[in-house]
Amino acid sequence: VIAAHLVVPDDINVSWKDIAGLDDVVQELKESVVLPVKHRGMFHNSSLYQAPKGVLLHGPPGCGKTLIAKATAKEAGMRFINLDVAMLTDKWYGESQKLASAVFSLALKIQPCIIFIDEIDSFLRSRNTNDHEATAMMKTQFMMLWDGLSTGNESTVIVMGATNRPGDLDKAIIRRMPAQFHVALPNEEQRLKILKLILENEQISPNLNFVQLAKVTNTFSGSDLRELCRNASVYRIRTYLREHCDDLDEEAKKAQENPLTESATNTS
Ligand code: ATP
Repeated sequence: VIAAHLVVPDDINVSWKDIAGLDDVVQELKESVVLPVKHRGMFHNSSLYQAPKGVLLHGPPGCGKTLIAKATAKEAGMRFINLDVAMLTDKWYGESQKLASAVFSLALKIQPCIIFIDEIDSFLRSRNTNDHEATAMMKTQFMMLWDGLSTGNESTVIVMGATNRPGDLDKAIIRRMPAQFHVALPNEEQRLKILKLILENEQISPNLNFVQLAKVTNTFSGSDLRELCRNASVYRIRTYLREHCDDLDEEAKKAQENPLTESATNTS
């Protein structure tokens, strides 16, 4: 069983419009990955104009690395395999070797395809003498499979890795990822864009001062901003319900007084 989520383009629910404030990274990915993949028929004779076989996204947690990887696959019409690195650890050695080759051969079969590895550093960190023998062999095998993608220009499989600690990665891995992008914590201007995107379809107070909110959320990641907005909306909804829905409170009280009624209702 391949313990990876295989996603086909139509099922990917993320596209460029879901990413705010990362215009430079998006533009660079459009030119270096999406165009060569989308128009590969046109350029297949050129060994120079090819999408890279490895792309590294690095930066702090929650800043959009996974979003970018998914959107790239969606926009390039690629399939997306989300490889769970926990399955490639020593414990499962033997099984994990089989899994790694299965993933690569599947990717080749269903190409164009992105094999996405979140926290790639936890699996392909610098090799050292303390490495368990199985771990070292696993890494070597993984790199061989990866190199196999370059034999013949026709293959359109990209290994895309994400990490918060690029410094921990094996140099041999870094070399295999010629396209590298830093996805940093958003600055004030970027936070403003992210907040506007997150709240785009929400009912918000006309008094909400986006500029001020972006100013005071220094050091917040995109994910933190999303959580902030979620908490605000939950708080607002709870307050509204408390103020306007006495009957709901009554129902809740009754259920507390007589839990049997509730469980009877639930089981019916
Ligand atoms: P991790 O390193 O923890 O895996 P990540 O960098 O991969 O984090 P994502 O999973 O892509 O981060 O982002 C988490 C969530 O935060 C997204 O699903 C999205 O809701 C929100 N988010 C983060 N950055 C952005 C952004 N630039 N634009 C819009 N939403 C964002």
